[in-house]
Amino acid sequence: PMPRAIVTGASSGVGLHATKSLIDRGWHVTMACRDLAKAEAAARSLDLDPGRYALAHLDLGSLASVRAFHANIARDHDSLDALVCNAAVYKPRLTQPGRSPDGFEISVATNYFGHFLLANLMLPLLEGAPSPRLITLGTVTANSEEFGGKVPIPAPADLGDFAGLKAGFRAPVAMIDGKPFKAGKAYKDSKLCTMMMSRELHTRHHARTGIVFATLYPGCVADTPLFRDTPKAFQTIFPWFQKNVTKGYVSQALSGERVAMVVADPEFAQSGVHWSWGNRQREGRSAFAQGLSTKATDAARSAELWELTAALTGLT
Ligand code: NDP
Repeated sequence: PMPRAIVTGASSGVGLHATKSLIDRGWHVTMACRDLAKAEAAARSLDLDPGRYALAHLDLGSLASVRAFHANIARDHDSLDALVCNAAVYKPRLTQPGRSPDGFEISVATNYFGHFLLANLMLPLLEGAPSPRLITLGTVTANSEEFGGKVPIPAPADLGDFAGLKAGFRAPVAMIDGKPFKAGKAYKDSKLCTMMMSRELHTRHHARTGIVFATLYPGCVADTPLFRDTPKAFQTIFPWFQKNVTKGYVSQALSGERVAMVVADPEFAQSGVHWSWGNRQREGRSAFAQGLSTKATDAARSAELWELTAALTGLT
């Protein structure tokens, strides 16, 4: 039988191209998207085989939508080979926090809370598959071990002592550390949390279930619509800079191929790791398991973040 994956945010960029690469490997992909008409148009633009994908509605910013999505999948299927937590929003120009339907700051709600609840609800389905994987998109800007993670614009990822989460994370709270709102930092914080989530899933569930939990940094995919809310000049200069100066640029097609490798290929069967191909791209270079910052690997902090998030998302 065809192995089956769910890819969140498959209507553009990395998720769309990962869907294509998985289909090319003989997989069936459920494209979990908030805009189904856009997702269908995106699938057609890459000529995806209609027998190899399905569309399903998911708004990760809404906890009710995550629960409804899970109920629909669980009604129709009793196993799942892979879940790819890919969707994200990046809104660096907001001066006031956007709010999710549940009242949470929008980038943390979408990128982290939605995936946290989804991942936990999907565990029983993954357990039903022969060699399941749960793969999460991370990023350098959330890893202070790397140059990209030290860039102080507007500030590096920093979760403080979780004061914002402890205070309930609804207005007027806007940041996990409880400090004043910084839009670009909210994105970095959310990505650091999803990377910590993957480590904590590994700690709690790998030995018991055999599910492989891993994160990856696919390279700098500088021309995806992720950057749609940045200034126009940035959208021209950033890809040029990444191609010619940092040499970190990766095409959308290659980023999708890297996700598919981590989801499907036997070389990537290790759990509890973060995969990278480095920052300066070199042809033929293979992936390596990269260390994460102590911010991302501190076991006590990861466990505390887990408990706070489980309460806020209604998991417990
Ligand atoms: P895109 O903006 O191209 O894609 C993001 C996807 O997420 C879109 O399909 C979008 O849907 C979807 N999405 C946004 N909000 C929601 C929501 N509330 N519910 C469901 N889906 C939603 O970005 P990329 O492809 O560049 O990014 C994909 C992942 O890769 C992200 O996790 C990002 O952090 C990560 N990444 C990207 C890098 C890069 O350089 N681009 C580098 C490192 C990591 P819609 O089409 O409707 O907007």
